[in-house]
Amino acid sequence: MRRIYTAETLPDAHLVVGLLAQAGIAAKVFNENAQGGVGEIPFTHTWPEVWLENEDDAERAHEVIRTLERGGTNQQVECRKCGESNPDNFEICWNCGVTIES
Ligand SMILES: [Zn+2]
Repeated sequence: MRRIYTAETLPDAHLVVGLLAQAGIAAKVFNENAQGGVGEIPFTHTWPEVWLENEDDAERAHEVIRTLERGGTNQQVECRKCGESNPDNFEICWNCGVTIES
């Protein structure tokens, strides 16, 4: 396991995991529940993190994240089933798996 990304928000973390999954890279979100503690534990607020299952994927994962940070998320398409935002180059919703029609 290896941390590859620290997201500012939980949706961001899931977006990264979804992008990695599309690239065939297995990853998981950690600190998923930390957001609920905002306000209660401001000092120890922990941001959601994305961890790789396989460290060998790190290089490719960095590529994916670089692409994302270059503005890959500027265009968002809302999933018609679950309402989550997906990058417009997604063909399948990262959250529920339905085909996205833009
Ligand atoms: Zn969906």
